[in-house]
Amino acid sequence: MPFCPICRIEYREGFATCSDCDMDLVSQLPPEEPDIRETLKDEESTPIFVTSDSVEAEIVQGVLDDAGIRSYLTPDATRHMRTIGMGAVNGLYQRTIYVLECDVERARTVIEQTVISSSEDGSSSER
Ligand SMILES: [Zn+2]
Repeated sequence: MPFCPICRIEYREGFATCSDCDMDLVSQLPPEEPDIRETLKDEESTPIFVTSDSVEAEIVQGVLDDAGIRSYLTPDATRHMRTIGMGAVNGLYQRTIYVLECDVERARTVIEQTVISSSEDGSSSER
């Protein structure tokens, strides 16, 4: 069966390209490693933030954007559910933000501030 190497959707025999990604299908998916780094850009990138909360992921990416840091957020994993079989339940919904290696330190600082300020709700309720 052909697969799209980007979104990992399985196609029926006879299809040559993915209609979503416009990519040539491959007969077999690479085992684990998603091709995120290759597809995002040809530059070095580092995973800086992992969350299972899509909203949080987008907030963090927005904050990075405001700080002038280029980042890449992995797509929502729900599309992958169709093709991922058993044993991959953990982290199915996890989304990862990648930044360029030269921005890692700055991004880390920005994210720390964001996460701390957004968790204030929980800590302020305890007295
Ligand atoms: Zn695709």
